[in-house]
Amino acid sequence: MTFQINKIGIVGAGQMGTGIAQVCALAGFEVRLNDLSPDRIVAALATVDGAIARDIAKGAVKEEERKPALARIKAAPEFENLADCDLVIEAASENEEVKRKIFTRLCPVLKPEAFIGSNTSSISITRLASTTNRPERFIGIHFMNPVSRMQLVELIRGIATEDATFEAAKEFIGRLGKTSTVSEDFPAFIVNRILLPMINEAIYTLYEGVGTVEAIDTAMRLGANHPMGPLQLADFIGLDTCLSVMQVLHEGLADSKYRPCPLLVKYVEAGWLGRKTQRGFYDYRSGTPVPTR
Ligand code: NAD
Repeated sequence: MTFQINKIGIVGAGQMGTGIAQVCALAGFEVRLNDLSPDRIVAALATVDGAIARDIAKGAVKEEERKPALARIKAAPEFENLADCDLVIEAASENEEVKRKIFTRLCPVLKPEAFIGSNTSSISITRLASTTNRPERFIGIHFMNPVSRMQLVELIRGIATEDATFEAAKEFIGRLGKTSTVSEDFPAFIVNRILLPMINEAIYTLYEGVGTVEAIDTAMRLGANHPMGPLQLADFIGLDTCLSVMQVLHEGLADSKYRPCPLLVKYVEAGWLGRKTQRGFYDYRSGTPVPTR
């Protein structure tokens, strides 16, 4: 008998964890949402409520789906609250040490047959899996941002990931109405291996004075038909996440073409992390994005 995924635990209630909770709840899964910070969980529940209300206004979700979906998401402030989950998706900060510590504390409380997925944008799935007590039931499940609108999910098998784990993850993504692609376990997988060096190059273009923030974003929107400029996209992803991905590419592939732009490092050191802190390549505090350079 195949193991049925019904209850999803999510560790990290930031931008991605919140979006994953929303799509899982709307697809009928029970969701348990964990974060270090209880305030983040409260904020995430409010964000999901607002996002579903907007989807209803657009006709993408039916009014009668709202209440049951919200009722399916419950706060899980302690890892013990995730004990009966069938799949736990780790969506905490893009920092290997943070993720390792989470798996070390989380694994002993999970039931033996539970799967673990990591939403990491770049870190080796094989290495993360090796910090767990179940590398064969561990897999990369990489959602895109914003989760509710992006169709793709990358699945990444670690060296020990069993076929049954891969099939279960694929079926889970299908039940969310999304499409999965398979990537080998190399730094930043497929999407970010291609996307992040482009964003980093846009930051170098700004750093070297080739263009202003507005000129670079307009150039790529109208000149390459990208829906968002690369600096706008960097702010949307989070500059800390962008920097972490570039560091993983740089260290993992040992090629100087992946060196993070010093200007990206400076923005992160300043705490200007993009939309989530109200300031990055644009300042969002007035409600209208104003370029910061
Ligand atoms: P975020 O900064 O918005 O959220 C991270 C959350 O993790 C925070 O709420 C933080 O409190 C929580 N956290 C940190 N340590 C924790 C711990 N020990 N236990 C529980 N919670 C903890 O980041 P995000 O943008 O949601 O990214 C989360 C993950 O998703 C990262 O691995 C990132 O690379 C990946 N990802 C991000 C994007 C994107 O565009 N932002 C896209 C795909 C994947």
